Amino acid sequence: MSDIQLLPAVVEFLARPHGHFIEGHYQVGETGASIDIHDPSTGAVISRVAEACEAEVERAVRSARQAFKGAWADVSPYQKDVVLNRLADLIEANTEELAQLETLCSGKSINLSRGLEIAQSVVFLRYFAGWASKITGQTMTPSIPSFAGECYTAFTLREPVGVVAGIVPWNFSVMIGIWKIASALVTGCTIVVKPSEFTPLTLLRIAELATEAGVPAGAFNVVNGRGAVGQRLIAHPQVAKVAFTGSVPTGIDVGKAAMAANLTRATLELGGKNAAALLADVDVDSAVAGIVQTAYVHQGQVCASPERLYVHRSKVDEVSAKLGAALKQLKIGSALDPQAQFGPLANAAHLQKILGFFDRARASNTVVCGARAVERPGYFVEPTVVLANGANDPLLHEETFGPIVCVLPFDDEEQLLALMNDSPYGLTASVWTNDLSKALRLIPRIEAGTVWVNMHTFLDPAVPFGGVKASGVGREFGSAFIEDYTELKSVMIRY
Ligand code: NDP
Repeated sequence: MSDIQLLPAVVEFLARPHGHFIEGHYQVGETGASIDIHDPSTGAVISRVAEACEAEVERAVRSARQAFKGAWADVSPYQKDVVLNRLADLIEANTEELAQLETLCSGKSINLSRGLEIAQSVVFLRYFAGWASKITGQTMTPSIPSFAGECYTAFTLREPVGVVAGIVPWNFSVMIGIWKIASALVTGCTIVVKPSEFTPLTLLRIAELATEAGVPAGAFNVVNGRGAVGQRLIAHPQVAKVAFTGSVPTGIDVGKAAMAANLTRATLELGGKNAAALLADVDVDSAVAGIVQTAYVHQGQVCASPERLYVHRSKVDEVSAKLGAALKQLKIGSALDPQAQFGPLANAAHLQKILGFFDRARASNTVVCGARAVERPGYFVEPTVVLANGANDPLLHEETFGPIVCVLPFDDEEQLLALMNDSPYGLTASVWTNDLSKALRLIPRIEAGTVWVNMHTFLDPAVPFGGVKASGVGREFGSAFIEDYTELKSVMIRY
């Protein structure tokens, strides 16, 4: 097993002084304050990024506002489609460079960076581009009575809201960034993105590619820094919308801050504690393969992935044993090693959080496998399965955002539904069964924004995605995003 060779372009990019992308060009920081970027596979510092000060945030929002009123407003819907497709082509052409950068910052397997993060960003971007010429209002016939023969007609216009603040977490910084950038640009908005302090580099490179693709200066800006930079953006009076993805506690703060700023609209894609239900008739081997693939991909650091496994009592021993055996076979290794099947956690703070869950699991649960750190440099832990200590076990209720699945048996469907819905979260869920009519009866009663059958964590640009309950407000993808990035203007005419 060995790491791939880094491209010279990646080595050169890491060595550059990094700051922000404002007014169509790269800008190094004004203040000298910077954040170290670590490679999670080794823990080593691989680059540095400047932290934006108030003046830089101000410049980014001002340039986005100017582009909103000018350069981007002047681009026709057809041309917006062309430009966004050109950006997709450039991202695709630079897949290897972008994938290596993302793997180095996030600890995501190079296979996943190439085949999912960058490849799917291209797919989503092309999907969104197609909406440019399809965003329409409606006509309607008013019901006002006519007193003197006059007539009325009415219609609505969909108008872009303005400058969007896109705040992005560290787990899929490119893909989640692209969802927000593409949603904003295709509706005629402009955007200032703040990536996570842990994964700031790839979106900076994509901003350069966007300029090459023809996105005018100011339409797409990146400012880097910690949470305080996000707060400044949200508070800015010229930010018309906040598109946030991250944890529930931060999401609540962001929602409140947006309301307090200017009644600024906010969409919040937040965390989950997602349930997978394996019914009595489940095909155990294919369900176990599916859970290994979806609960442990990117070391479980996926908002949509299953962390709670409810298994019919007749199958629970077989499922736990087969899941544990499959996980023990996974090759743990560097994210840059294409042979490795399980890599590091994304950062040192997250490693400490997951080790805390392990301590609790070892003290109070039956550990089927894992629940240990891996003795090597970097932020490695073992993929983990534990048996829950009853329905109130905290491991069934707290989001770990790590490679920890907690298993609980159930006896009948009413009990299953009560267990699945016993959560403040409601992002995703899945039902694994060969009996589709059973699944179809359960689906309307499951409290989640997305329910999959015989699969989990499968996102498609045509299918709306978002949470219910504490998992968020609003939907991305499909046509649902249009409502969040546009205002409806009503027009009435008398003739
Ligand atoms: P955080 O909520 O900690 O951070 C998300 C982003 O918000 C980061 O860019 C962060 O910057 C920034 N931020 C932090 N504090 C503030 C603040 N007060 N105001 C404005 N911005 C702020 O989440 P993580 O990055 O740790 O991501 C993990 C979480 O994201 C998990 O809970 C996961 O479930 C959720 N998530 C949800 C998804 C969904 O679609 N529903 C998808 C992916 C993740 P910085 O990193 O510099 O602190």
